[in-house]
Amino acid sequence: MAEDRIYDLVIIGGGPGGYTAALYAARAGLKTMVLEKLSAGGQMALTEQVENYPGFEAGIDGFALGQKMQRQAERFGAGTAYAEVTSLDLNAWPRVVETSEGTFFARTVILATGANPRPLGLEGEEGLVGRGVAYCAACDGMAYRGKTVAVVGGGNSAAADALVLSRIAKKVILIHRRDTLRATKIYHGALAQAPNVEPRWNSVVTELLQDGRLTGIRVKDVHTGAEAVEPCDGLFISVGRQPATELVRGRLELDEQGYILAGETTQTSVPGVYAVGDVRTKPLRQVITAASDGAVAAHMAERFLAEREP
Ligand code: NAP
Repeated sequence: MAEDRIYDLVIIGGGPGGYTAALYAARAGLKTMVLEKLSAGGQMALTEQVENYPGFEAGIDGFALGQKMQRQAERFGAGTAYAEVTSLDLNAWPRVVETSEGTFFARTVILATGANPRPLGLEGEEGLVGRGVAYCAACDGMAYRGKTVAVVGGGNSAAADALVLSRIAKKVILIHRRDTLRATKIYHGALAQAPNVEPRWNSVVTELLQDGRLTGIRVKDVHTGAEAVEPCDGLFISVGRQPATELVRGRLELDEQGYILAGETTQTSVPGVYAVGDVRTKPLRQVITAASDGAVAAHMAERFLAEREP
């Protein structure tokens, strides 16, 4: 076991929860490493404008905020390795974290792996990703300049995606299975004012039409059962997220939806292992609640280490 690969704390995931934990842990003097497979910011980095994180009165783009959080944690000595975690042994001491860049050893672990977009589960959906089917307007929206797109979902993500796309596409069809959006009220007015957003209430997508690329969708009215074909070039699916818990399934207790069971202390079912941000059970998944979790988890890790190795 190479001494330089042993950390007080290894944080898996470099979103706002992960880098806030890294900031607090590094400032507390813990030898800290963040393992991130892509780039800092997590899901937040895909958000065009974060309007509800205090301190940025004009808003800030999510990618820039992610970079700032990373630099801030690194200024106090936290490290970042761009590595994909392939397996975890949380019962070993120190814990063993196998990655694409070799093995890391950790006295404490924070899981900050977030959540990924949930697919609709329609036939052909997977094969059409990148050929008309997308899950992120900020990432893929520009490919649909002047075209017709549909967005499915009624939450904050769907509303935000529809607004982003309304500034790019010719027409945005917003398909939701209820007669009103679940999204925060601020989105309702903005969407109503966007002249090229056409809502289809009480409707679900039942089929993807294609000729190798998406050419349209079949939409069904959930009350009448009537079906109609909507020709479109793109379908943005925003029907919620699923927690990224593949690494810990069967090792940590999860709730029935697959989120890691952890309360306000962020403590999981294994001592010295914490879960922060969108991957844990919580009532509100936002940048600020992820950041808050990160601070708490670093504090808990520090206490755990002090009690175990005074
Ligand atoms: P969400 O809030 O869970 O909303 C998912 C939406 O998809 C709901 O409207 C749901 O319909 C619909 N849906 C689910 N399964 C469906 C299916 N099979 N077919 C059709 N529709 C389906 O998820 P989200 O919008 O991805 O947001 C995830 C989290 O990120 C939330 O906590 C959200 O607040 C947060 N977020 C916040 C912001 C912001 O504050 N600006 C921006 C983006 C995301 P029902 O309404 O019928 O359940």
